[in-house]
Amino acid sequence: MGQQGSASGSLLLDLDGLEVVSAELVGGEWQLAVQTTATVVGCMGCGVRATPHGRRVVRVRDLPIGGRPVVLAWRKRLWRCREPACGVRTWTERTPAIRPRAVLTERARAEACRRVGKDAHAVAAVARDLGVGWATIMRAVHEHGIALVEDPGRLDGVAALGLDETSFLKATRLAPTRWVTSLVDLEHGQLLDVVADRTRAAVDAWLHARPRAWLARIATVALDPWRGYASALVAPLGHATVVVDHFHAVRLANVVVDQVRRRVQQTTLGHRGRKRDPLYRIRKLLLTAAEQLTGRGRARLRAGLTAGDPDGEVAAAWQGKELLRAIYAADGMLAARAALDRFYRWADGIGVAELSRLARTVRAWEGEILAWHATKGCSNGPTEAVNLLIKKVKRVGHGFRNFDNYRLRLLLHCGVRWQTSQTARLRGRAPQLVA
Ligand SMILES: [Zn+2]
Repeated sequence: MGQQGSASGSLLLDLDGLEVVSAELVGGEWQLAVQTTATVVGCMGCGVRATPHGRRVVRVRDLPIGGRPVVLAWRKRLWRCREPACGVRTWTERTPAIRPRAVLTERARAEACRRVGKDAHAVAAVARDLGVGWATIMRAVHEHGIALVEDPGRLDGVAALGLDETSFLKATRLAPTRWVTSLVDLEHGQLLDVVADRTRAAVDAWLHARPRAWLARIATVALDPWRGYASALVAPLGHATVVVDHFHAVRLANVVVDQVRRRVQQTTLGHRGRKRDPLYRIRKLLLTAAEQLTGRGRARLRAGLTAGDPDGEVAAAWQGKELLRAIYAADGMLAARAALDRFYRWADGIGVAELSRLARTVRAWEGEILAWHATKGCSNGPTEAVNLLIKKVKRVGHGFRNFDNYRLRLLLHCGVRWQTSQTARLRGRAPQLVA
């Protein structure tokens, strides 16, 4: 396109109510002069046809075209009312595509929110791509994102609720680790909300804010048995079946394996795990599900235990973890009950303090552990999947300081359903039938 305006240029820009007057490549960027298509307007005070009163150029950034940044130079029309009896004198036109004093078009702001929220891109990266500052992007994420997150329909249709805790800020020399509790829709693998802290009161407050009909629909609650959540649930969710899901049980057993490994490491070698220590080298293999170990993995595990676990305590803890997993893998309630007894016999009889403690916890939550078998479809997958997404957002936004920002970013990434328009494939797998 030359210096002349062009209808196809306007089509390509595809910005409602604006047409391209000219386009120029300047320093690798598209500079598009645009104007509104409205050439006849009435006065907003009296309705009399207004007369043009010159223009003012406003510059905003828009979405890139062909990978190049785009600057729109909007030749904003000024209007004047000539009706002597009218109080309105002059005004400048407006367009929904560009807010007053904005540095980005509305669609660029929406796109910034989508990239930061849905795709979990870093705010700084999006700011760089769009050629604006960090704060501009963050403002767009807030303004577009809060509407998505606060949409009341977002929480509809939950029948199985999962509770989990994750660290929000790791401990520093001056402050302890700060935790948050995430609430997950276990059927749809969607993050419902994040509440600050992992206390009973935090969950309680969230549940009390839900309508009674919403609570009544919850049939199952899966939780981490190590927290005071259970008592928080009793009042508003007394009708629901509480289960300790696979994910939380295995996570606890893994903590026990780690504790025993560290203790044995410390007593046998007198120091914390180092790269060459036999137990340290198998720390990940110890936490891997037995059936997922390769032949080589099994051999390495055995060799590490032979070299670093003289009294067989780590091996005992590992066995305990596998027996706890077997309760969940069992086919039906009877088999699960039998697997549970095998776990107790092992954990009570082997004389490893950490395992005995684990057995006590399992006893306290026996009903909730077995209940897992009664609630079909309450799987550990969603909590685990959401946890991975949470980690990803934390990595990208390294060191969130502000809880509200953190919550917004998490919910935008794994708590809202984004509308995406399908892009037609240019070349499909099927043979082309075009002559
Ligand atoms: Zn007027």
